[in-house]
Amino acid sequence: MCEKYLVINAGSSSLKFSLYEMPGNKEIVNGCVEKIGNNDSFYTLKTSSKKIEKKETIMNHTKAVEIMLNELLINNFISNIDEIKGVGHRVVHGGEKYSESVVITDDVINDIEFFSKFAPLHHQGNLAGINAMQKLLPTVPQIAVFDSAFHQTIPEENYMYPVPYSWYKENGVRKYGFHGTSHKYITETMQEYLNKEEVNLIICHIGNGVSMSAIKNGKSFNTTMGLTPLDGLMMGTRSGSIDPSIIEYICKERNLNVSEVTTLLNKESGLKGVCGESDFRDVTALLENKDHLAKLAVTLFEKSIVKFIAHYYFELEGNVDAIIFTAGVGENMSYIREDIINYISKPMGIKINKEVNENIAKFKKYQSGIITTEDSRIKVMVIPTNEEYMILKDTFRLSKKEKTIQKVLKK
Ligand code: ADP
Repeated sequence: MCEKYLVINAGSSSLKFSLYEMPGNKEIVNGCVEKIGNNDSFYTLKTSSKKIEKKETIMNHTKAVEIMLNELLINNFISNIDEIKGVGHRVVHGGEKYSESVVITDDVINDIEFFSKFAPLHHQGNLAGINAMQKLLPTVPQIAVFDSAFHQTIPEENYMYPVPYSWYKENGVRKYGFHGTSHKYITETMQEYLNKEEVNLIICHIGNGVSMSAIKNGKSFNTTMGLTPLDGLMMGTRSGSIDPSIIEYICKERNLNVSEVTTLLNKESGLKGVCGESDFRDVTALLENKDHLAKLAVTLFEKSIVKFIAHYYFELEGNVDAIIFTAGVGENMSYIREDIINYISKPMGIKINKEVNENIAKFKKYQSGIITTEDSRIKVMVIPTNEEYMILKDTFRLSKKEKTIQKVLKK
């Protein structure tokens, strides 16, 4: 008998969902609620033959989950809610405790609440999703798939900050890293593509949230996000790494407290801080109107990625199988990919194939491919990420195991 599994991926400004039929990994429908928290939010549901698109102001993730379940029912993707046999949730922060996915229990929820202090922008959405689903489906296994888990292989020399050691021992201050399911998916895809386990990669996950990783011998060796997803690269609304002294200085200058400034660094900085827009489609529209601040924001954004490509190239001792672009911007914005390649082209001997690059995006001829020429010293590729698939794999496996345990316990 076919069973249905739901995968929820609540990002900082989006809620992606996919309903699958198992076994067989058959996707029945997927959808995305986008621009959550903005007045121009909208959602789409897609099957191979049908597309539903609606505009609605959706101010939080709880409302987004309600809308999703209602659409699944009214469009007959499920005839009743009991058809769903497992729900997988992308959870951002698992601390040092979770290096693998787990069945969600009260203890796991407490831990996710505890780790909220590290992931202010995301855990609220993650917990809202889990709570809403648990209320509606109390007997269905809910699985947490942690974004930080894949990066637990990062060595001490790369996860420690140069701060008092007691901050690590007593307060958990270290680099954890995020977007782990995406970095893991790209790593596994490249392992299959290159037909070897020991791949060395530089992965650029460029969406609203932006992170990069250095993959050494098939494992995460370094990544840009840190204690929280605020660290590292410039993002849609997050600053990434800045001089830490700015916080105290701005608190005094503008009469703000630390948590107000932290919120501004998470929600009002990055692209939005510099040019007023966080979504790359809106930033691109400003660029087309020759907006100076949009140009500045894009230059800062690209240079922050270039800096880490150089850093990771040296960390991998120049032994790089490929540089990969993925996620919303990485998969769709060819001019950003081209600009970045132009910055690194001379020092790294990388040559862009402009024609291929320009033809890769969601609605263009190709969705993936090699965007460098044959004689380029390092391959640069575009590979669409599939965090949902990674969550599905663990959700199916752990839901089955949980159901078996429940059955044995009932006997
Ligand atoms: P997140 O999951 O962090 O919310 P995404 O990976 O969905 O982010 O990426 C969102 C970003 O990708 C936005 O800046 C958006 O403008 C950009 N983007 C560009 N083209 C597209 C597209 N065709 N579909 C979705 N996002 C796109």
